[in-house]
Amino acid sequence: MSVATTQPTASSVRSDALRVTEIFHSIQGESSRVGLPTVFIRLTGCPLRCTWCDTEYAFHGGGTIPIDAILAQVAEFHCTTVCVTGGEPLAQKNCLPLLVALCEAGYSVSLETSGALDIGGIDPRVSRIMDIKAPGSGETTKNRWENLDLLTAHDELKLVLASREDYEWAITACHQHRLFERCPVLFSPVQGQLEAGQLAQWIIDDKLPVRFQLQLHKVLWGNTPGR
Ligand code: SF4
Repeated sequence: MSVATTQPTASSVRSDALRVTEIFHSIQGESSRVGLPTVFIRLTGCPLRCTWCDTEYAFHGGGTIPIDAILAQVAEFHCTTVCVTGGEPLAQKNCLPLLVALCEAGYSVSLETSGALDIGGIDPRVSRIMDIKAPGSGETTKNRWENLDLLTAHDELKLVLASREDYEWAITACHQHRLFERCPVLFSPVQGQLEAGQLAQWIIDDKLPVRFQLQLHKVLWGNTPGR
């Protein structure tokens, strides 16, 4: 299902190129776009090291591909919905022109980002799916809280929770930063650490205005690269 990324050559390494781990066509497993057939562009590299990271294979490697070649690969899938993910896609400066190019080409575009880097320069047509890292991730200090002021109702906030401590931390953060008023808020359990039904019950008991989500692609195919 995935398109093999090309290895860099002297002629292919251009100023508008990005390091890409994989480009593949699958079902969106998260956010309000869950269930939609989507082309994923997974960019290589991430400055964070979340304890429960499920995409460590994207930390290194990949191939260097110019933006026009990325668009050509995406077009092969004849799918109007595109998600740029990682790794941390904003760690590469050329992510911003890639997002513009995808929007200009007419795609409905979302970006999945850790919330650790500035989201200010992103094309406003892009729906930003931004994490806030809870303590169980080990990366809470990386949260760039000033990003919150940039979010609109077009964006979404995602909190991945590993424990009851994370859950209570998330509720406090939501109230302190008025997250429920900014955009849709998503709560997800860390697979294998917090039982999904338990998190769902806590949300019901506390009458939280959040969207509970599982990673649909893992329900369908497990944790498989290219899915
Ligand atoms: S930000 Fe995402 S890709 Fe980076 S370590 Fe955390 S979960 Fe993994």
